Amino acid sequence: MSGRIGEPIRSMRARMRRVVARIARSEGLTPAAMTQLAGRRRNPFDVLVGTVISLRTRDEVTIVSTRRLLAIAPIPAVLERTSAKRIEKAIYPAGFYHTKARALRAIARILREKHDGRVPGTMEELLALPGVGRKTANLVLLMGFGVAALCVDTHVHRISNRLGFVATRTPEQTEAALRERLPKNLWWTYNELLVSYGKTVCTPLSPRCSACPAAGDCPRIGVTRSR
Ligand code: SF4
Repeated sequence: MSGRIGEPIRSMRARMRRVVARIARSEGLTPAAMTQLAGRRRNPFDVLVGTVISLRTRDEVTIVSTRRLLAIAPIPAVLERTSAKRIEKAIYPAGFYHTKARALRAIARILREKHDGRVPGTMEELLALPGVGRKTANLVLLMGFGVAALCVDTHVHRISNRLGFVATRTPEQTEAALRERLPKNLWWTYNELLVSYGKTVCTPLSPRCSACPAAGDCPRIGVTRSR
């Protein structure tokens, strides 16, 4: 299949729907860490804490570390009173656990001082919290508040480019491009599916294209080696 340069938007949207439906039917996809965490007690604080812990950390560690911390600090007021040492101990061996412990305490303090002890529900306010970037903010909006938001990490960025849905250099550019063309009803599942797919099938170095149910709809842009 050739590339998709100049593909009409209607045809691309139909392709997006087919690809998402086919990937969703794939077997062996493991739910992303935040889906597993949010499934228990879906609220913005849990999602915010889990996403901060998840940065540069494996899913298995994120899940265990977040549950351990939420068990001792289930609300912002308690988190603020918990010592950095105790937070570190709870989230270890998450990457940058030292820095994250301080960021989490600072976030809890700001939530009390500026937001009445609650996680704010706008992108602007979330981005003003320490350690919170667009990926985290979008995930909190999507999973914590149920707002349609597009969370683009390295997997979503890479796979969207391979599929020719976007032609971008950074996750931020991918988010902006997808906002214009991805049908809104797919926003809820797009991140979760592609993160899981990026870890199991459409992997960074050598994607398993021979086993991919979306192969017939994928121009495989930039793929030089596959299985
Ligand atoms: S065909 Fe290959 S590059 Fe395209 S989505 Fe499937 S695994 Fe990824």
